[in-house]
Amino acid sequence: MKLPGIAWRTLTADVAVGGRKFRVVRPAQPPKHAPLSTGYRSHQMLVDKPSAIDLAAAWWLAARSPRTVVWLPLRQTATSCGSCYGRRLDLVLMHHSLGLPVAAWKQARAQVRQPRPHTAVLPERPFPDLSEADYEESRWREKHDHLRFATAADTLFLIGSRTAFELQADQLRGLVEDCPAHMAASPGTHCCAEIGIGATPSASSDKNRRNAWGELHVEYCADHR
Ligand SMILES: [Zn+2]
Ligand SMILES: [Zn+2]
Repeated sequence: MKLPGIAWRTLTADVAVGGRKFRVVRPAQPPKHAPLSTGYRSHQMLVDKPSAIDLAAAWWLAARSPRTVVWLPLRQTATSCGSCYGRRLDLVLMHHSLGLPVAAWKQARAQVRQPRPHTAVLPERPFPDLSEADYEESRWREKHDHLRFATAADTLFLIGSRTAFELQADQLRGLVEDCPAHMAASPGTHCCAEIGIGATPSASSDKNRRNAWGELHVEYCADHR
């Protein structure tokens, strides 16, 4: 499955909290197999193919939509797969310029009523290709343009700039486009996306110390590939 051309069916609602107006977008159907749990600096998500696509499409939308909160309701995911080593969480992706405090999310979430259906089609190049020449620059940018993370209201928030999302996007592209072939060729292989969140260890300013480096590890379920 290639990301370009995927039609992502969503539900969209307009919300206002604390004088700020924004959109909340979520998949038309909650992902059925994407339990997300949290541990010390590490967050674990276990996906099947449709859920991997939901995550990549959500990532694409969050990167390019600074006035949109992208919400993946994952707490009620039906599967019992995976060892849950913390409490189950939803995932919210949003642009840092939105300025929504995570403590206000519960209030925003409660306003999502009568959402409108909308289908977003992923374009030819949903994410920029990072060339070898971009690599050193991206290493610099990762230090200054990382995804912040926080948890509140049973939700993991990833918050950043378009660049911060796009620097991690190739992990998700690979999860959708490359992992199924790897798993078919080598049954039993461990296939995952390792998404760096928080500040890299070398970026140790006071500002970053409270949001130290962590990882969102998105693994393909061994039983539901
Ligand atoms: Zn892994
Ligand atoms: Zn499973």
